[in-house]
This record gives sequence, structure tokens and C-alpha cells, in this order.
Amino acid sequence: MALKLNTMRRAAQALIGSGARYKSSVPGVSSQLGGQTDGINFNISPEQQEYKELAAKFVEDKIIPKAAHYDKTGEYPSDIIEECWNLGLMNTHIPHEYGGLGLGILDACIVTEEMAYGCTGIQTAIEANSLGQMPVILAGNHEQKKKYLGRMMEAPLMCAYGVTEPIAGSDVSGIATRAVKKGDEYILNGSKMWITNGGKANWYFEWNMGQRASDTRGITFTDVRIPKENVLAVQGAGFKIAMGAFDKTRPPVAAGAVGLAQRAMDEATKYSLERTAFGKKISEFQAVGFILADMAINVEAARLLTQRSAWEIDQGNRNTYFASIAKAFAADIANKCATDAVQVFGGNGFNSDYPVEKLMRDAKIYQMINIAIYPFGDL
Ligand SMILES: Cc1cc2nc3c(=O)[nH]c(=O)nc-3n(C[C@H](O)[C@H](O)[C@H](O)COP(=O)(O)OP(=O)(O)OC[C@H]3O[C@@H](n4cnc5c(N)ncnc54)[C@H](O)[C@@H]3O)c2cc1C
Repeated sequence: MALKLNTMRRAAQALIGSGARYKSSVPGVSSQLGGQTDGINFNISPEQQEYKELAAKFVEDKIIPKAAHYDKTGEYPSDIIEECWNLGLMNTHIPHEYGGLGLGILDACIVTEEMAYGCTGIQTAIEANSLGQMPVILAGNHEQKKKYLGRMMEAPLMCAYGVTEPIAGSDVSGIATRAVKKGDEYILNGSKMWITNGGKANWYFEWNMGQRASDTRGITFTDVRIPKENVLAVQGAGFKIAMGAFDKTRPPVAAGAVGLAQRAMDEATKYSLERTAFGKKISEFQAVGFILADMAINVEAARLLTQRSAWEIDQGNRNTYFASIAKAFAADIANKCATDAVQVFGGNGFNSDYPVEKLMRDAKIYQMINIAIYPFGDL
């Protein structure tokens, strides 16, 4: 394990300088790499800037060239995920004592937005790991964390967060899977649906409209035996833990939508400066200019909402309200920007030789995955 971790850290250090910089300076509290806490401050810290640049370079070199291939084939992007793991660009929330970088949610959002710029399918597969880990980070005891978080740092493993069922998605409290205690074990029976990373394989039995690089499965549990030491917190706390995990993982989902929207804007802007009609560049038509201006307005607004929601939870504040707003808004603007980018591309926008039809397909899921606000007290 030590060898693997050292390899990972060396790789990250070679690219981004000293690995120590990426550690939280406030043990036990969600880190903010910038460390600035006084007053309102829109500066990105030098460390956050370095992480952002590392992610942007990874996206440019590794993700963008292969995104169309993974979209067309539906293959699982194992090679990209492995490189991402080697660089320390995934599992960023895992605390130091379990071998991770212990980054905060705002730090994660900065990285996630860059990754989503390249391909939200690949980014979702990576982000689902944080979602799967979050209940253990929030409610696991030391042994559980050591066992389940520690192993994520030993190898590029994937994990999954299985809440949704064929009969209940938005209504999380309506799930029917049951774990019944029998001696020192719990016997689990039930079915899950739409579980990202649920199969982690190079083929699918489902063919999704978008984000095809992300593996999504149904899972059936039949008399699965779970040792009682795997129970998080206490029996019956699962719903609160699941909702608490959403508070920490909605901001990165919103950041993914912002990354997609930014990409749509950049592609549309570039195309409008190249394409001519009626003897002019199409960017010179005010109707096209208005579309691009609206994209910029919406991207900036969604980014600020996302960062606010991440900042709140990093400060230790309950962020359910802000995180839900950020995710709902970012999802809508991702769809608007992608649709408008297709419009700017005209007929070419409807063709898979150009990048924007994929953005339109990939964007839709952001308006579907869980955004509900549940009225319960703090964990
Ligand atoms: C690609 C993909 C990846 C996913 N990954 C995961 C994962 O990793 N883990 C996981 O647990 N789940 C995952 N999901 C499931 C996802 O969270 C659910 O699809 C989502 O919660 C919606 O649930 P549903 O599909 O059952 O739709 P339903 O809940 O049946 O909703 C159908 C429609 O009714 C509307 N609706 C429902 N309730 C209300 C209400 N109270 N008021 C108004 N309108 C309402 C919805 O907005 C929607 O338009 C994933 C789904 C997809 C497609």
C-alpha cells in the first residue's frame, strides 16, 4: 500500500509541486485550500489554482481526445480513471488519516468543474465515488473508515451509492429494500435501480441517452449477509446519513453542470467566430450575440451559487438550501446552454461530428437526479 500511495503522491507532486500543499491545515474540519475566511472573498488561492490547472491539463490531454470514443462505444473509461487516481484527482474528500488528501467541498467543486468540461460521463463515474464514500466519511467509525476508505487509496477502485429503487427515486423515504438482523448479521433483500458505477464493466445492459461513459446498473440483493460491524452509526440512521451525504455531494454535481455549460459556451463562441452567413461571421448577428451573452450570465450565476453552497458546508454550516438551489439552477442552465449551443451550430449542431449534441444529451440527467430538500434536523 505504501508503495502505491508514494507512487500516487510522486505523480501528483511532479505535476503540481509539493503534495503537502493539498492537505487541510485544519484537521477535523472540511478544508479550504485557500484558508481565507474573513469577509467576502472571491479569490481563488494559489493551491486551488494549481489544482484547477492540473485538472484542466488532464482534461485537455486525456479526456477531451477520448470523450467521443467513450460516448459512442459506452466502454467504461478505466484507463482514464486509473490515470486520474494516480494524479490524486479523485477521492479527494478522503481524510488524511485514511491516506487521502482531505480536501473540502469547494476544492472538489473546482476540480469537478474542470473535469466536467471534458466529459460529464467520465466525470460522473469519478464523482460517484465521492457520493459512495460520503456516508462512511460522515458516519463511519474508525475501523469502517480504515477498511473502506483506506482501500480506495490502495488501488483505483470504484464504489457506488445505491438509494434509488425501481419503485422509488425522488421519494427516497419510499424505498423497500430491507436489512433484517439475524444473529451477528443483517440479511439484505431488495432491488436498486440506476446505480452509477453499479457494475463497473466495459459493457452495459442499459443504453442511456447521455453520459454513456458512466456505468449505470440495476442491482438485486437476495439474502445478502452483512456483518453487523458494517452498520453506519446506529440502526435506523440510514436515511439521515443518506441525506447528509447529498448536502456534501450536491455542490460537486452542480459544479459538473457548470463545467458542461461553460464548455457549451466556449464551443458556441468559437464556432460563431468561424462560421459565416450572409457575408459575415455569425457572431456579428445580434441574435447570436444575445445567445452567447445569456450563456455567460447564466454560467457565472450558476458558478457563484455552486461555490456558495460548497463554501457553506466547508464552514460547517448546514447547506441543504443553498446546495439544492445551486444544483437545480446549474442543471437548468446546463440544459439551456447546451441546447442554445446546438442552435448556434445550426445543422452541424445536430451531428455527432461536432461536440455540442453530446453536451445536450449529457446535460439532461442533471435535471433528474435527486434534488429534493428533506426536513430533518442535523445529523
Ligand atoms: C444516469 C443516472 C444515474 C443515476 N445514478 C444514481 C446513483 O448513483 N445512485 C442512486 O441512488 N440513484 C441514481 N440515479 C437515480 C436518480 O436519482 C433518480 O432517477 C431520480 O431520483 C428520479 O427518480 P425516478 O427516476 O424514480 O423518477 P420519479 O421519482 O418517478 O419521478 C418522475 C417524475 O415525477 C416528478 N416528481 C416526483 N416526485 C415529485 C414531487 N414530490 N413533486 C413534483 N414532481 C415530482 C419528477 O420530477 C419526475 O419528473 C441515477 C439516475 C440516472 C438516470
